[in-house]
Amino acid sequence: MTQIIVLGATGSVGETAFRVLQHDADRIRVDGLVAHSNFERLWEMGTTLHANWVGLTDTEAAMKLRAQHGSRGPRIIAGFDAILEEIASSPAEKVIGAMTGFAGLLPTLTAIRYGKDILLANKETMVAAGDLVRQAAKTSGSHIIPVDSEHSAIFQCLALDQPLRRIVLTCSGGPFRGRTRKDLVNVRVEDALKHPNWAMGAKITVDSATLMNKGLEIIEAHHLFDVTYDQIDVVIHPQSVVHSLVEFVDGATMAQLGWPDMAVPVQVALSWPERWPLPQEPLDLTRQPLTFEPPDTETFESLRIAREAGRIGGLVPTVLNAANEVAVSLFLSREIGFLSIIDIIKDVLQDFRDNRPVVTLEDILDADQWARQDAVRVARRYQQ
Ligand code: NDP
Ligand code: MG
Repeated sequence: MTQIIVLGATGSVGETAFRVLQHDADRIRVDGLVAHSNFERLWEMGTTLHANWVGLTDTEAAMKLRAQHGSRGPRIIAGFDAILEEIASSPAEKVIGAMTGFAGLLPTLTAIRYGKDILLANKETMVAAGDLVRQAAKTSGSHIIPVDSEHSAIFQCLALDQPLRRIVLTCSGGPFRGRTRKDLVNVRVEDALKHPNWAMGAKITVDSATLMNKGLEIIEAHHLFDVTYDQIDVVIHPQSVVHSLVEFVDGATMAQLGWPDMAVPVQVALSWPERWPLPQEPLDLTRQPLTFEPPDTETFESLRIAREAGRIGGLVPTVLNAANEVAVSLFLSREIGFLSIIDIIKDVLQDFRDNRPVVTLEDILDADQWARQDAVRVARRYQQ
């Protein structure tokens, strides 16, 4: 039976994966589950799924778990480095990458270097280190299968590997669709966390409000499908039913549709190239009209900024991602206003002078560190 590891098991995608893995228990066995600090939920999941081990990057949380459960149940792995070793030596053939942020890069690279297929939700990894991750997968023969719903849609449309002309990423528009810049000056954290269609972790929900999520997804699509930035378009589709489209060279256009539920992309990635049953409410197209409109790139500059960063390439997307992670976390802790997120990113990109066309892992780690420090420095201008 196929074995799997889930990184970011206690998050929003991780919870969906938990549901799907319970449903598919006769097809997939769980080797390990990884989280940061939520040891209680991780333990519940690990015992329910009969995992061989559970890992916590926060060693203190792991120690608390050990104190509670001793030598019963799954082995408890403590700390980032021990988790990397466990991934490397695991018999699992597949790894679900559902950690949030740049923290997913090293575990993902480790899994790839040891020949495991990566079922990737963690888009920041692809944005920050797309070329490196692709090269590592080419060398080891690992497959990178998208879990991000738009990229899963495109992946499914491309099942026959036919030549495409263009990709169209759909975007809900987030909670602030239709607002002007002026309307966004005083929006609160609570407003930004109210996504109209998807229940997700805080970081990606804020990214969906600034539309940086779609910006990151443009870069992700470039790497996953080997398309140029000119071949990637974005259309606003508030209902989140059409998950993305592919236009082929003859103009024929295919889309994948479904309710906004990550269970489908998770299971598609798990079962690929097969398809397994999943109890899902059938799609009812008469329930609401499906509408499409162009994005407002004046108000939501992140689409342009991310596309441009992707085009320049090298370490610029790494810097973009790091600045965004810092700015979003400052917004979530109410230290800066909503519009300052993009201002900080623009300032950090402006400050960055050390780009290079071919990058190593060390270059990426250095650029990420530099951008985080610069973002914190720049943010002082915007602190409220
Ligand atoms: P959440 O914030 O809900 O969950 C994050 C998970 O990662 C948790 O298990 C958390 O552990 C763990 N984690 C956080 N920081 C670290 C760290 N430094 N080291 C190790 N583990 C860590 O995020 P989401 O599930 O919403 O998103 C996960 C990824 O998937 C993101 O990259 C996001 O962009 C992407 N994605 C999410 C979608 C969604 O529907 N949510 C859709 C498409 C893509 P703990 O609970 O212990 O803190
Ligand atoms: Mg998405």
